[in-house]
Order: sequence, then C-alpha cells, then structure tokens
Amino acid sequence: MSENVSYTNVHRAFLQACSNHGTLSTSQAFNMYVAICAQHDDSHSIPSEADLASVIEAINERIYRFDQKIALVHYDPTDMDFYVFVSLQESPIDLQQNVFTAPELHFFRVLLRELALSEDHTLALIACLNLTNDTASEGMKPLAKTRAEQLLQEWEQLGYFLTLDDKCYLGPKAVVEFEKYISRNYADVVTRCCLCNVTIFYGVKCASCPQILHKDCMKKYLRRLTNCPACKTLWSVPL
Ligand SMILES: [Zn+2]
Ligand SMILES: [Zn+2]
Repeated sequence: MSENVSYTNVHRAFLQACSNHGTLSTSQAFNMYVAICAQHDDSHSIPSEADLASVIEAINERIYRFDQKIALVHYDPTDMDFYVFVSLQESPIDLQQNVFTAPELHFFRVLLRELALSEDHTLALIACLNLTNDTASEGMKPLAKTRAEQLLQEWEQLGYFLTLDDKCYLGPKAVVEFEKYISRNYADVVTRCCLCNVTIFYGVKCASCPQILHKDCMKKYLRRLTNCPACKTLWSVPL
C-alpha cells in the first residue's frame, strides 16, 4: 500500500513514544508528533493530522507481523479519542513477567476479573485496593496496599485502568488489548453493541430496554433513524 513511503526516524521515534506511553490522547499524540518532526524531519514542512494518520498507517503495516498495532479508540466514559499501543497476543499480561512480580500480576488479573464481572464494569477505588487480600488466598504474601496504590497509578498512566469520581474503569488500552481475554474468560457477562457487534464495556443505555450501545455508533444511527435498534421505542437518552 505505502511501499513508496519511506520509513524514517520520525516513524521510529513515534512508535517508541507510543509503546513507552501505552496510551495517548489524540492531542497528546499530535503534540508529540510535532516535537518529533522538529527533531528528525529536515523538510521543515508543517506537520498535519493527516500526516500523522499516514505515519501511523505505515507503522501499523510494519508491526502487524509482531501482533502489535496503534489503534484509535473512542473511550465513552470520558468521551475522548485515544491512540493506544496494543499487543494482540493471546494473553498480553504474560508479557509483563519481567516487569512485575507474581503477586503483582495476580492483582492485575483479579482487577480485570472484578471489572469484567461487575455489572457496569466499574469498581469503587477502595474495593480495588481491598482486592489485594485476594493475593493471600493463593498462598502468596498479600500485596501491600501502598504498593497496590502505586501499581494502580502506574497502570492508569499506561491506559489499563482509569479512575473517575473515585471509581475504577477498564482504561482505553485494556478495552482493546484485553477484549479477547475478557470475552473468552468471562463469556457470560460480556455484551456486544448491536450496531457494530464489538464487545462493549461502556456506552449509553436505552431508557426502555437493557441494550447498551457505543455513543459513536448510536450518534451515527440517529442521523437516519429515531428508535432504539433493539426495542424500537423512540430513543430519548441524550448523547
Ligand atoms: Zn458499536
Ligand atoms: Zn431499547
């Protein structure tokens, strides 16, 4: 597709930045791209959003073979767009064995499980920290709460979790990277958006039926139609 587009130091530096940060809002990503161009691009042309999109496309063509990609994600809890560096491996947490101890990784899995199983996929922050007790049940020394707090902050910066109003959510990176893992391990609780058929964790709920839909999907749908796609009653929830 882009055989004639050269893969430059701008591509390399942007990929490095994405993999280091894990998750970047689109404006953070663009600012980073502008800074990288100033450092590596001698052409002195003014970088545009479209240039960034084609740089990301070229990067994705390269890293696809390593089961990685930079995905653009609309994240409904904050109504923001993020670029997320994603590993599409079967079980991406196992890749972190060098970085985190066994009880720390166990805490991560328990957090994922509890967020997957909770009805609205959120947990009170205090409940998250209490999950450290769960690490003791497996014959491991329980994780100290202070360490758990540090880990939550670290994982939040990478985009695995997100706290809003003292509640913990699956972050933009987890929603994409662990979609397969969660839908395979917790198949009973996973629902799909009936408009795009992708697993949905957060979105907007119909006022008349239990259906949850991605805000973006529902916005597009309401340009043509006025009823809930599931129960057919007039859509009344503001988007
Ligand atoms: Zn959808
Ligand atoms: Zn409905």
